[in-house]
Amino acid sequence: MDHNTSETKDTFVQILSPQRLRGKVAVITGGARGIGAATARVFAENGAHVVIADILNEVGTSLAESIGGRYVQCDVSKEEEVESAVKVAVEWKGRLDIMFNNAGIAGFGGSITNIRMDQMMTLLAINLHGVVHGIKHAARTMIAGKRGGTIICSSSSAAIMGGLASHSYTMSKEAILGLARSTACELGVHGIRVNCISPHGVPSEMLVSEFQKFLGNTELRPNEVSSIVGERGSLLRGRGGRLEDVAQAVLFLASDESGFVTGHNLVIDGGYTSAFSQMS
Ligand code: NAD
Repeated sequence: MDHNTSETKDTFVQILSPQRLRGKVAVITGGARGIGAATARVFAENGAHVVIADILNEVGTSLAESIGGRYVQCDVSKEEEVESAVKVAVEWKGRLDIMFNNAGIAGFGGSITNIRMDQMMTLLAINLHGVVHGIKHAARTMIAGKRGGTIICSSSSAAIMGGLASHSYTMSKEAILGLARSTACELGVHGIRVNCISPHGVPSEMLVSEFQKFLGNTELRPNEVSSIVGERGSLLRGRGGRLEDVAQAVLFLASDESGFVTGHNLVIDGGYTSAFSQMS
């Protein structure tokens, strides 16, 4: 056996290196903070070239600089801006391998008897249409590139259990599961995998602010939210979810290690949605 071929060297480098996304090009919507930012860091540590697409220009730019990536202003509710974000990746590195459709907002609450259609449509434009835009333009680019690809979409435990969030949010996250399944069916023939993640109770800025509103306590800090979630929800008592838990799950779906996984929803919730008895 010839141990000096470049193929053999590549294999050794891959075994010795933790870089599970070496040379891959990724776009992360909503990548400036929270789960998206944690994932951007994990992707970069694993050798990916990351484009952060967000509306938070200052933090997004600074994070992109710190991980050797690119930042692009992109409101996911606007199709042309998502298309441009994908183009930034292609113009930069000539390809797109990974699309993480992560951008989302939490609001708008209230009773179904008072639901405001304008507010509902605003939420759907970001949480749902944003994902449609992301899958559409990633798929076009990946099909043209003929290298396959992996698309990951952010759903939520709210898609699985009622009463966790606003009706609009729940609706948007449930629709994402269906969209991911149906696009996985269409795109598999091109070697493109489409999967969802459903996190629960991860103390991002979004969740902390929701808990502050819910508990009427603006002083509540992320570690306190984490322990509340850990105590009330997780089967792993005293262990609330962390941003990195979600980032590592996304890394798996983004890497070749999940090469036979598509149309799947990976729930990251410490067992919360599996155990009614633990909810009290
Ligand atoms: P976050 O608020 O910390 O991050 C959301 C990111 O999306 C921010 O960077 C924000 O600027 C960006 N964003 C918002 N509107 C946008 C738009 N129109 N265009 C582009 N970017 C936009 O919240 P997070 O918890 O990190 O949320 C990330 C995703 O995870 C969301 O889709 C959320 O619904 C989902 N999620 C989170 C949890 C949790 O426990 N934190 C649970 C279930 C699902």
